[in-house]
Amino acid sequence: MLNTYSVNTKKPITITNDPWESYNDIQAHNQLTLSNIEFTTTNLCNMRCSHCAVGYTLQTTDPDPLPMDLIYRRLDEIPHLKTMSITGGEPMFSKKSIRNVVKPLLKYAYDRGIYVQMNSNLTLPLDRYLDIAEYIDVMHISHNWGTIDTFTDVGFGAMEKQPPIKAKLKLYDQMITNARTLSEQGMFISAETMLNQSTLPHLEKIHQEIVNDMKCSRHEIHPMYPADFASQLEVLPLADMKKAIHHLLDFRDPNTWMLFGTLPIYPCINDEQDQALLQRLRDTENVTMRNDPDGRNRLNVNVFTGNVIVTDFGDENGTISNIKSDKLPDVFNQWLQTPLAQSLNCHCSEFNCLGPNVLVKNMYYPNTDFKEKERQMHRIYSMT
Ligand code: SF4
Repeated sequence: MLNTYSVNTKKPITITNDPWESYNDIQAHNQLTLSNIEFTTTNLCNMRCSHCAVGYTLQTTDPDPLPMDLIYRRLDEIPHLKTMSITGGEPMFSKKSIRNVVKPLLKYAYDRGIYVQMNSNLTLPLDRYLDIAEYIDVMHISHNWGTIDTFTDVGFGAMEKQPPIKAKLKLYDQMITNARTLSEQGMFISAETMLNQSTLPHLEKIHQEIVNDMKCSRHEIHPMYPADFASQLEVLPLADMKKAIHHLLDFRDPNTWMLFGTLPIYPCINDEQDQALLQRLRDTENVTMRNDPDGRNRLNVNVFTGNVIVTDFGDENGTISNIKSDKLPDVFNQWLQTPLAQSLNCHCSEFNCLGPNVLVKNMYYPNTDFKEKERQMHRIYSMT
């Protein structure tokens, strides 16, 4: 078994304890609060997925990271830091990066009792993952592979010189067996599937693989939104997305936690079918919905440049600051004051809802004034 003991007693992650849910901070601090830092720790990866947020910016060598002392100091300055996410590239690809950045961050989090998520493709040799297993609360992987061809094409879609097909297939097998072995040894593996035109016909097969072959603890479902990095894949019309969610609820394994993130369906939208779907999601056992953390409780820091972005819509918004000069709680509070954040950040306590992010709003609700919706909801439900 993995050694999951921590000097800090963190409550296990369950459907009633999702430390990445930004509504937790509203309940604890009465306002949006910085509690989650995502670090981009490497630009290197053995794959080049078409859907990867950084797939087209991956490099062949990493520059030197900023001094860890600066990074620790910036973390020490966040009083309510609760979660850390480590992303890349593939964070376990470069031994130098693992030694100099990833492990020091994992140790910092461990000592402070902070939950850690790593975003990995899980295709590297098992030993690399076993080596850090005791520090990982959630190993997050993407699984959008309806067919082997999708893996071999989309998984390397942004790579100029294609590896031989045999090598690609070996990585697929490695991902499945790594996930199963690590799950069986007690690691919490959360596999995320995007809802888009490419995954839609294969959702049942993907779910079965995640549950039965990989034995993952959680299947995350996130609609795909049209950001640059995903432009090659097709976004689903809203009606198809809702049908897909019903379909998922019909065939899912009731014993596996299914988490829906960034759903474009809100209590304030006057549509009977939307409200019926929301109610079905609320009523279904082992199903949760999560508010989008980006810009609500999370900022992303690049360990090489020190640049800070609001993850996922960095493309829309660009770099908002740099840790060489600024403290992260200050950056977060300044972000909340921006016209963009102000126009988006609605809150209805009756439904624990924090509204859409900029990508969702632009895609599905370009003409909806959510601040006005918020006023109406507060009147209807007598919320303050
Ligand atoms: S928080 Fe925003 S999106 Fe959610 S119900 Fe209220 S007004 Fe609608």
